[in-house]
Amino acid sequence: MSTWSCFHLAMPFLCGVLFSKVVGHATLKAKLIGNIREGRVAHAQLFMGPRGGGDLPMALAYAQYLLCADRDTVDACGKCPSCAQMAKLEHPDLHLMFPIYFREKLKPEQQVCEPFTAQWRQAILAEPYTDIEQWRDQLESENKQLRMGVGIAQEIQRKLSLRSFMGGYKVMVIWLPELMDTAAANKLLKVLEEPETNTVFLLVSTDAEQLLATILSRAQLTKVPALRPSDLAEALLERFPEIVKDEAMAIALRSEGDLLDAVDMANKGEEELFVFFRDWLRCCYRREVAAVAEFAEAFQKMGRERQKSLIRYGLYLIRQCTLQWQQVPELVRVLGQEQDFVQNFSKLLNDDNVNGIRNELETAHLHIERNANPKILFTDLSYKLMGLLRMAIPS
Ligand SMILES: [Zn+2]
Repeated sequence: MSTWSCFHLAMPFLCGVLFSKVVGHATLKAKLIGNIREGRVAHAQLFMGPRGGGDLPMALAYAQYLLCADRDTVDACGKCPSCAQMAKLEHPDLHLMFPIYFREKLKPEQQVCEPFTAQWRQAILAEPYTDIEQWRDQLESENKQLRMGVGIAQEIQRKLSLRSFMGGYKVMVIWLPELMDTAAANKLLKVLEEPETNTVFLLVSTDAEQLLATILSRAQLTKVPALRPSDLAEALLERFPEIVKDEAMAIALRSEGDLLDAVDMANKGEEELFVFFRDWLRCCYRREVAAVAEFAEAFQKMGRERQKSLIRYGLYLIRQCTLQWQQVPELVRVLGQEQDFVQNFSKLLNDDNVNGIRNELETAHLHIERNANPKILFTDLSYKLMGLLRMAIPS
């Protein structure tokens, strides 16, 4: 995973996975909460939905709400001892099962989740909207197949034999049970057929067709559909403060309710803007007139919305450079390539040019909105920046 996606995926789930942190699905949340409040807690439940729709975060929010000692009508409290443990996904009555790769030299019954649990927790807390590919990347498993075998089925049985630590529910989250092999699935089925009191299974699946029909028939189904475009756009705006509403909506529509796809698109779009902006400024600084003309051509071809995005993104980066230049680097929020750029470019700023650069970009944005000729505007802007950046060089 690139530093880009790390930056934008990193949403601090400091209070665990609260319902309020789960994107959209307001009606479904209300229904789940209502069920718990009325004491209707099915022993085996299947949260099922397409990639990026939020089935796993929804199941985890459900678990946190169920275990919370001080829940209200809309969410877990986020503060009680139980929530504090959920904040790290370390609640002793929360058991986490997920697919792993099989390690050589270990017997089938030794292939268990335990050695990977800390890593899974960390991955899910950083981004509960995840999929099997991202988990495989995290594991650096060299593209080995991820699966759940009898070792994990036995691990589930062992964990069930433990008494509840807090005296309440024991919750067993099984992520992607469709990746269980037949022997493991049959063992799980046995467990589901003999419900224990106060034990809740939350199966989270994106591909129920691969699940044993008998398991399906044992579980109460909660469908977590793809996100509504408006909800997804809102989530994007929270993660990408630089993008505007229209852009977020366009991405939300293109990604068809898949938050992972949408974040990918936004990251990719932003990285392209970064490379363009960095290389263009470099040419301005070096006064490479021919190269600047080529950038103006490319700028013209971008289309108006993208041109505005580029300028807005440039303003954002210049703001970060200004903070760096003002010696308040603790306010600078960039990572990776952006960070290198900010460190280098901020050295070119001074009292004479810092406001000028920002003003020129703001004016350019305004003129694009007013339908100025993009090529002329961009060329003009480039020459103005050349002049301003020259001020950086002591004469
Ligand atoms: Zn609580």
